[in-house]
Parts: sequence; structure tokens; C-alpha cells
Amino acid sequence: METKTIFEKSVKGRTGYSLPKCEIKGDIKDIFPAKILRKEIPNLPEVSELDTMRHYIEISAKNHFIEKGFYPLGSCTMKYNPKINDIVNALPGLTHLHPYQPEDTIQGALQIMYELQEMLAEISGMAAVSLQPVAGAHGEFAGVNIIYNYHKSKGEKRTKIIMPDSAHGTNPASCALNSFDVVEIKSNAEGKVDIDALREIIDEDVAGFMLTNPNTLGVFETNVKKIAEIVHSVDGLMYMDGANLNAMLGYIRPGDIGFDIVHFNLHKTFSTPHGGGGPGGGGIGVTKKLVDFLPAPVVKREEEKYYFEHIIKNSIGKVHSFYGNFLVMARAYIYLKMLGEKGLRRVAENAVINANYLMTKLKTHFPIPYQRDVMHEFVASGEKFKKYEVKTLDIAKRLLDYGFHAPTIYFPLIVHEAIMIEPTETESKETLDNFIKAMIRIEKEAESNPEILKNAPLNTPVGRLDETAAIKNLNIKFEFSPNM
Ligand SMILES: *Cc1c(COP(=O)(O)O)cnc(C)c1O
Repeated sequence: METKTIFEKSVKGRTGYSLPKCEIKGDIKDIFPAKILRKEIPNLPEVSELDTMRHYIEISAKNHFIEKGFYPLGSCTMKYNPKINDIVNALPGLTHLHPYQPEDTIQGALQIMYELQEMLAEISGMAAVSLQPVAGAHGEFAGVNIIYNYHKSKGEKRTKIIMPDSAHGTNPASCALNSFDVVEIKSNAEGKVDIDALREIIDEDVAGFMLTNPNTLGVFETNVKKIAEIVHSVDGLMYMDGANLNAMLGYIRPGDIGFDIVHFNLHKTFSTPHGGGGPGGGGIGVTKKLVDFLPAPVVKREEEKYYFEHIIKNSIGKVHSFYGNFLVMARAYIYLKMLGEKGLRRVAENAVINANYLMTKLKTHFPIPYQRDVMHEFVASGEKFKKYEVKTLDIAKRLLDYGFHAPTIYFPLIVHEAIMIEPTETESKETLDNFIKAMIRIEKEAESNPEILKNAPLNTPVGRLDETAAIKNLNIKFEFSPNM
């Protein structure tokens, strides 16, 4: 029988990994039924490599991305992630693994996961870490589920979780998905938890307290120990939303100040580019008494051998297939190994210095309602522009004309016309100064020519969209029209 070779030689894939030589035995006509075989070569449209490349470069340049310009999207930590992480991360030893491969063939990958668990535990002051959840919100869901199961293991069914009114929207959602009622506590004038209000509402029905620290106002909650004392007095658990961990790396460990559970956003703090929905990493760390509740598997080590521990006594079970997003973990590992302890501290220092620099330069132009020394982000208000009929939305749109991504707007809800700015640790002073100039120019435009703001953006490929209509009449179906 004749052998047909599909690939003459072994073929090198994108990562340099060779695909094996591919052969089929026999003639094509004997293998596929005659009625499905083509009689003629199909008339496929052809475009040259150069034209194709220009096409894609042109459409990519219409977009905004971190390599092109500043991205001060508060709460999202849209920092620049060094390309070396992606290069190392594309090594075939990392990308060409199969989740069902025997453990002795993936010792290197297991070592990466194990050491990442250990490093995150050290950074957060927790006893153990599970890397399985794949987003911050997913980590929250798993963490709150641990709270539920912790009380259940004592034969109790508690119904309430307390959180401040500055909480990120995913916090109440994670509680609701775990069938808890959310009790909101007001922030005081400093943007912190009102301790007296907490004392009034605490009771034996409280399962836990959820806190983002630093919070969404960029304010560091200095009373965590006091809050923890109150919550622990009824055996409630303290959950920290660790999405803003870049502000305290190497300086403060959540486990040292009274938190029992924390989630990490590997894609925010530890170097996976994000936006557009993933993939992410939302591993969680817990204190000693909760280790047995962690989602499985976690990676363990016995002498020099690494293995998955699939069965943990009180585990809440699996929250994702297999072990989560391995390549996001590998990026975090590379990033942590490159920075080391000193580098991590500098991340925190620069994130805080950059935010404070911007806030100090902008506060006389854009009032800051909770004006403190902030951590990694701050929230200004566009309320004073109402007299020109200019809204925060208009300011955000005008920034696009100056080549900046808009900050997060209308969040947190407790600030009217909120403009939430997070410069991150990776921006230079020149970039920050250019942003300040643009913001001040927009302030002047609001006074002298408000119409220009209301019609912005004027220089982008797409102008002002009707965002409400886009949400209410969402149509993402591709419809073929012969005239296209
Ligand atoms: C981003 C963020 C989350 C949610 O994380 P995802 O990875 O987007 O699910 C939760 N809390 C805070 C404070 C955040 O900034």
C-alpha cells in the first residue's frame, strides 16, 4: 500500500516544538467516499502576506492597549507586564502538557505550582494556598464557600456576611451565590469601616466579614485588628479581597493582621495581561484552621517528589476542572522569582507613590471627597462640572482624544460622579505628567467649551456610542448580508 506523507518533515510549531511527521496509509480516494471529494481545486481568495499584515496592524492600532498608552483604570491594575514572562511562559515544557499526564512526567510543572503556593502563603501570611480558582470573583466564591462550610462543620447555619458600602460588586455577588444575606456597613468620613456601627450589628448569626484592603477608595483600613477582634468574638471569619495586594506587597501580610482567608488576583498583581475576560488566576490562601477546606487538588511534596493531593478531608471540592489555569500560575512564578523580596517591596512603593503624586497634582482641579494619603489608587469627583452640564462620562470620553484610556467611572457608588484612577507601579513620571496636563486641559475645556466634551471622543475610530442601547439591544450575532 502506498504511503502519503502530509508533512514531509516534522513541522515546527509557533513555540519551536516539533510536531511529529504525519503520514496516512493508502490513496486518498480509498479513504474518503468519492461523493465528498472535490473535483476541482477550490477557488480560495488569496491575500499576500504583506497586505494581510498591514490589515491586522492597522486594526490593532485602532485599539487602545497598555503597550500603546496609559491605562489608569481604577480597581483593575492595568499595569505593564514584562514580555520576558510571556517568552519564558511559551516554552514547550510549559505549554505542551496534558492534564492527564502521569505525575512523574510533570515534576517541573508541579514544582512551579508548589513553590508558587509557598510564595503566596509567605506573602500573605497564610498557612496554605489552593491555586484552583481562575478569577478574583471565583476565588471569592470559593472563599465564601469555605466560610459556609466552616460553620456547617460545627453544626451551625449562619446567614449573614457583613461588608462595607465601598465593596467591589463581586463581593456581595459571591455571598449571594453562597446563599448568604449581605449586611452593608457604612463607611465613615475617612472612608473606613465605622467600628461602632459594626459593634451594633455583630451577632452569632454573622458568618464572616469581607473587606477589600486597601479599599476601593484607595484607603488603607487601619482598624483591621479591631474589626477582626469583633468578628472573631462571635467566631465569624475575616475574608480579605486581595485584588489590591500590589499596594502592600512585602509590607503587610493579611494573615498577620487578622484575616482568615484571602484571594489573589494573579492577573492583576502578579503579571498576567488581562482585559477581555481572561484567562485569570484567583487562588486563595487560608489560615491553619481552614486548610482542610481548601478546594482540591493542591500540590504537595514528599522528599523530592511533587504530587497532587486530590482528597482533602473537608474540602469544598473542585471549583474548576483539573487544577486551574496553569500558564497564569507559571507567569506569576516567573514574575515573583524575577522580583524577589526587594523587587516586590518596590512594586508596592511605586504603586503608592504614583497614586499619591497624581492625587496631589489633581486634587485642586478634581476634588477628592475622601482625601487621605491614599495607597495605590484614588477617587476624584466630577461633581463640580455639573454647572457646565458636563458629566464624568464626558471627561472620560475626552481623555480618549488625548490618547489615554479612561479611568473607571461611577464606581465606587459612594462617590458622586466618581473618577477612579489607578496609575500602577509601572508608569514613568513623564507619563503621569502628560496625564495631569490632559486632565487640567479638560477642566479648562469644561469651562470654556463644554460642547467639545459632550461630543467627545472626536479623534477615535468610533465616536460616542449609545451605551444604554448597546446593553439593552445587545446584538452580537453575525448576520450575513449579500451587500457586505
Ligand atoms: C478586579 C476585582 C475583583 C474581581 O476580580 P476578577 O478577577 O475580575 O474576577 C474583586 N475585587 C476587587 C477589589 C477587584 O478590583
